[in-house]
Amino acid sequence: MNPKLSRRVNEMSTSATLAMAAKARELKEQGKNIIGLSLGEPDFTIPDFVKDAAIQAIKDDYHSYSPVDGYLDLKKAIIHKFKRDNDLTYSPAQIVVSTGAKQSLANLAQVLLNEGDEVLLPAPYWVSYADISMVAGGVPVEIPATIENDFKITPEALEAAITPRSKMMIYSSPCNPSGSVYSKEELRALADVLVKYPNIIVISDEIYEHINFVGDHVSMASFEDMYDRTVTVNGVSKAYSMTGWRIGYIGAPEYIARACNKMQGQVTSGANCIAQIATITALENPPSKIQYMVDAFKERRKLILSLLAEIPGFKTNEPEGAFYVFPDISYFFGKSLKGHTIQSAEDFALFLLAEAGVATVTGEAFGDPNCIRISYAASESDIREAMKRIKEVLQ
Ligand code: PMP
Ligand code: GLU
Repeated sequence: MNPKLSRRVNEMSTSATLAMAAKARELKEQGKNIIGLSLGEPDFTIPDFVKDAAIQAIKDDYHSYSPVDGYLDLKKAIIHKFKRDNDLTYSPAQIVVSTGAKQSLANLAQVLLNEGDEVLLPAPYWVSYADISMVAGGVPVEIPATIENDFKITPEALEAAITPRSKMMIYSSPCNPSGSVYSKEELRALADVLVKYPNIIVISDEIYEHINFVGDHVSMASFEDMYDRTVTVNGVSKAYSMTGWRIGYIGAPEYIARACNKMQGQVTSGANCIAQIATITALENPPSKIQYMVDAFKERRKLILSLLAEIPGFKTNEPEGAFYVFPDISYFFGKSLKGHTIQSAEDFALFLLAEAGVATVTGEAFGDPNCIRISYAASESDIREAMKRIKEVLQ
């Protein structure tokens, strides 16, 4: 707490994913041999056809401010992508391009929430949802799901969490951190509850859409009775390995898109112009162009699950998408390991970092204090070595 800083930032937590990645980087710089499985970031390079489009955009002299909500040609590519992949129909006025899906989410919280409005978060949830909501005055309301239920909430649990203050629900499918994918039937069952509460806006974060090993990605907005109350969030960070290029976007009811445009116009303006042009090419190409990355993630999932199964004390389910496993490690609570007393998932993640040199992220940050998140967006050799080290320090 620093009294010179605002209450807002004093009360905010640091992003646990970025904090762990920074800690791992620092230890590496000190010469320690650290394997980073903390950050959800594909280790592939950007596909050549996307790189070429960016180089061409520089040569074509793109340099000035873009429209705040994105170039019209990019909006057209996004509209085409939403139709092709999600059977969603949007007009240009319903699209807003932002500096990463993270900014899309922050815009939405700022334009939708008033002080005290409740934000329903099926837990585990992505680390930033709670703080993005709180900074906008919202109150996170966790709806816990367990590993036994593949980390998916039931319609009954959703309905029990709804109050007259419920304003928004944010979820991701495929889910970061659990990798869970809601089937069409499961989403429909949640929609059947939500249609009874028309004040609730649903934010459907679909950034892992293509990294799905069971097929059948379903957008909440594709249900006719949810279309007017759902915002579809997506971006190119994960599918095209473009994390540092910072492009995210939404398809939304027009009044919400206009509000995000207004907010963004005062805060950051349009997203990077070169990255926007490259994104047009990325989205115009069929998803089959990036299937090689999805196939590699699927192989790595198989590998990490088989190696984790050999480590006693880890309870793991089979994630259906994204590139994370989210094992329950509560078996170790109350135990002493190499002089470290393990009282929490955070203690356990710090123990793994100190003794095995493996960076993971505590589940507390994702709303599940029994688990840790392991990203397998890493090379097979790093995955093998990390699991070997973890097994050794636990023996
Ligand atoms: N949503 C989820 C579920 C994520 O994992 C991430 C990862 N950063 C984001 C949103 C934000 O992505 P970006 O800002 O890189 O587009
Ligand atoms: N979304 C990624 C993760 O969860 C990147 C880090 C971040 O933006 O929080 O690890």
